[in-house]
Amino acid sequence: MGSALDIALPALKTKPKFIFFTDFDGTITQQDSNDWMTDNLGFGAELRKKGNEDVLFGRRDFRDSFADMLDSIKTPFNECIELLLKNITLDPGFKQFFEWAKENNVPIVILSGGMEPVIRALLAHMLGKEEAETLQIVSNDVAPRPGKSVNEAGGWHIVYHDDSGFGHDKSLEIRPYARLPGEERPVLFYAGDGVSDLSAAKETDLLFAKSGRDLVSYCERENVPFTTFQDFTEILATVKDIVAGKTTVKEAATGRK
Ligand SMILES: [Mg+2]
Repeated sequence: MGSALDIALPALKTKPKFIFFTDFDGTITQQDSNDWMTDNLGFGAELRKKGNEDVLFGRRDFRDSFADMLDSIKTPFNECIELLLKNITLDPGFKQFFEWAKENNVPIVILSGGMEPVIRALLAHMLGKEEAETLQIVSNDVAPRPGKSVNEAGGWHIVYHDDSGFGHDKSLEIRPYARLPGEERPVLFYAGDGVSDLSAAKETDLLFAKSGRDLVSYCERENVPFTTFQDFTEILATVKDIVAGKTTVKEAATGRK
C-alpha cells in the first residue's frame, strides 16, 4: 500500500536520492514536435519565432501564444501523429540515459507543455511501448472541438494542465519535492531547452539547458545557475559523477560552455 505522500509525489515511490525532471520537445527529442507541426502544417516559422520572442520578453503569456500556434494547424490529429513519427528523432544519448536511470533508481519525470497522446506515441515509437509506459508524464492534453472528432480537419485543440500563464506551470510539479525536509529530499535535476521551461528553471538543484537555445539566454539574464548540454551523453556523464560523489551540483553549474 502506498502512503498519501507516494500518491501526491509519485516519483518518491522507490525512495530515490535523485530525481530527473525533464522537458520533452527539443530536449528528449532532437526537434520540437509542436514547432514542427506549426512550421510545416500551421502558420509557419516566422510567426512562431515572433510569438516566442514576445513570451521571452514578457510581452505575452506562453499560454496564449502557444494556443495560437496550435490553432493554426488544421490537420487531423491522427495524421499529425503519423507525420511526427516520421520526422521527429530521439536525442542520441537518451536511450542510454534512460537505461542507466532505471538501473540506478533515478526516476525520470517528463514535464511537458506538449500534448500527452503525442508524447506517448513518440516515446513508444522510439523506446518501445513497455519502456515508454514506465515514464511518468505530466503534460497538457488534447480534446475535440464541439461537434467534431479530433481526427477530422480542424477537429482538435490543446487542453491546458492548469490555469497558469504557462498553460502548464512546471514549477508546480517540482516544488513539493523541493520543499521536502532535509533527509527526505532527493537532489533534483532538470533538463530543458526553451520558453516552456522558464517556470521550472529556478526550482531544481542543477539545470541542464540545451546549448544555443532560448533557455540559456534566460538563465544568464535571470542569474539562474545552469550548465549546458549538446545531448544526453553529456547529461549522463555529469549525473553519474554527481551520483558517485565525484562532483557536486554546485561545481557542475558551470554556465555557458
Ligand atoms: Mg522544449
